[in-house]
Amino acid sequence: MMAGIYVHIPFCKSRCVYCGFFSTTLLEKRSEYVDAVVDELKRRRHYLAGEPVGTIYFGGGTPSLLSVTDTERILDAIYNIYNVREGAEVTMEGNPDDLTPALLHGLKGLGVNRLSMGVQTFDDARLAFLRRRHSAQQAVDAVRTAVQAGFQNISIDLMFGFPAQTMEAWKSDVQKALTLPVQHISAYSLMYEEGTRLRKMLDAGDIAELDEEISLQMYEYLMDALSVAGYRHYEISNFALPGMESRHNSGYWQGVPYLGVGAGAHSYDGKNRHYNVDSLVSYLSQEPPMREQLTENERYDEFIFTGLRTAEGLQLAELEKRFGTEFVQYCLQNAQPHIDGGRLVHEGRVLRLTRSGLFVSNDVMSDLMWVE
Ligand code: SF4
Repeated sequence: MMAGIYVHIPFCKSRCVYCGFFSTTLLEKRSEYVDAVVDELKRRRHYLAGEPVGTIYFGGGTPSLLSVTDTERILDAIYNIYNVREGAEVTMEGNPDDLTPALLHGLKGLGVNRLSMGVQTFDDARLAFLRRRHSAQQAVDAVRTAVQAGFQNISIDLMFGFPAQTMEAWKSDVQKALTLPVQHISAYSLMYEEGTRLRKMLDAGDIAELDEEISLQMYEYLMDALSVAGYRHYEISNFALPGMESRHNSGYWQGVPYLGVGAGAHSYDGKNRHYNVDSLVSYLSQEPPMREQLTENERYDEFIFTGLRTAEGLQLAELEKRFGTEFVQYCLQNAQPHIDGGRLVHEGRVLRLTRSGLFVSNDVMSDLMWVE
């Protein structure tokens, strides 16, 4: 099992309307921030206990707002300090408007071998509604430029379930995505998170949530269309051509240790989680991460939550090995109504969500969680 390193780059040129992530528009702090990240990589050199690192992931915020030189400083520190394996997956999230040929060639030259682009939709009016900073054409061009720069592992993010969105509009987005040379697609339904501008618009009655039934039909269409096109539905929101699954994110779902550096980043050493403060000022003044000691029940909940998300399903033998028979019995007892209802299948020593279970995955998972 190989460890991962996550680097959080919290800068954005402006805020998207739905954004609930930690990000800041203080772009002038970028260089100072990179210094702090390099310092943190040095300070926490023992966190992964020499474990080989198989994946590196730059997430945000907007990591594509870093210059090639700043990205190189971070990668050099990682390669110098950590035991990074040959052939490691190195992902950078990027926004289409930043992905110029010069940047993409520079990143490729540094060993970045996977791109994850926030495309969201190919409808310009909807992109403007979301306050995204790119057009549909820029997204298409960015994918093509990335291919020309030599990237063979490209993921795009899509969103569905917009206010008043029609099935036709969603089908058109999915079909457009399938014309692009991308090996991985992540698709999420639009969320109205507390504290976002989108949520305020909803609460003020300026927009209305899409009917849940239509949203489910959109998810169903997505699953069908991507399956026909050869993508494997390997996690609730993630689809990949064979062998092109995100190794980094799969690591999270398999509970592998990872070091998260940067403001707001989380880490996991195999037993406990650590949280960096999600404030740029406090992070720059080197406030140490907070430690959260997980109880056995919390670790059981995480095991359920991460296992059921994946196409491989929840491994009951592993559950027993880690937590004992009492937890397995509890899990199966609570799973039974969902097995009877066709939302879960129990095959051999694996519990897996069925197609109808995927539609209500949060409800199924929460029913299996530990309640005192
Ligand atoms: S680019 Fe991403 S992190 Fe930045 S504001 Fe938009 S959704 Fe949030």
